Amino acid sequence: MTDGDERPCIRSPRGGCRLSAMNIGDLSVEPVFDGVMKAPAISYKGTTDVQWAPHRRFLDPEGRLEFALGGFLVRAPAGRLILIDAGVGPRSGAIMTGLAPFQGGELLNSLAGQQVRPTDITDVIFTHLHFDHVGWASQEGEVVFPNATYRCDARDWAYFRGNERVAPILAPIEDRLTTWNSSGPLCPGIDAMTAPGHTPGSTILVLSSGTFRGLLLGDVVHCPVELLDDEWGGLGDVDPDLARRTRNALAREIEGTDTPVAAAHFPGMVFGRLLSANGRRSWVM
Ligand SMILES: [Zn+2]
Repeated sequence: MTDGDERPCIRSPRGGCRLSAMNIGDLSVEPVFDGVMKAPAISYKGTTDVQWAPHRRFLDPEGRLEFALGGFLVRAPAGRLILIDAGVGPRSGAIMTGLAPFQGGELLNSLAGQQVRPTDITDVIFTHLHFDHVGWASQEGEVVFPNATYRCDARDWAYFRGNERVAPILAPIEDRLTTWNSSGPLCPGIDAMTAPGHTPGSTILVLSSGTFRGLLLGDVVHCPVELLDDEWGGLGDVDPDLARRTRNALAREIEGTDTPVAAAHFPGMVFGRLLSANGRRSWVM
């Protein structure tokens, strides 16, 4: 549930899409755009055109999924500026995966457009430590957000600190890092809710202020279509079966509620709600 009165628009530095901020009580949550990755719909293993037919709204005219890359800026009381995830980073153009090229590099420009300097960020919270969420943790061996406390799940730190792709990016933040081991409060207005499967320490962040509540899903969900049907798979899960159970439990928790949810890969990083009627779920923004 949100107050929903004010939704200032933020123009992405590449123009075109306009990104909406969400107010959750005293918290303002703004998408921070780093880039985009496009992938064919069949990246979801085993899916067919017939299965996608009712979900064309999630595809572009060429039948591709457009995944946003970036994170969220939470403006909290007492001047706290919290960055949730840090995009894929500036050298992402060369990165190839099984899906498609990741095009990033805009995160600091986006923050500047939101009148935020790297030195203003008080906390950086990672939902998990995949390369497309930690890209701006450090650059050239220096932390990008020098006044921030960096935060992540201890199980992800243990799993990824030796990963050759992200270890060089993570090493400079080690002496600024605080980890968590279980669900619980991280900083005022933001709680961790452990949601393992995509990675060992994958976490949903619960934003709350007064009676208002919203969720940032990390990569528990990449596209809202994953919430509509329990059989729909995920992407890039370390433990696919556990990830599916986690995702399905989330869908059951939020369906039919007023809780707004968003994830860093949702198109436009826009919040939506999972409705339920006659045994069928639907996604509304
Ligand atoms: Zn991701």
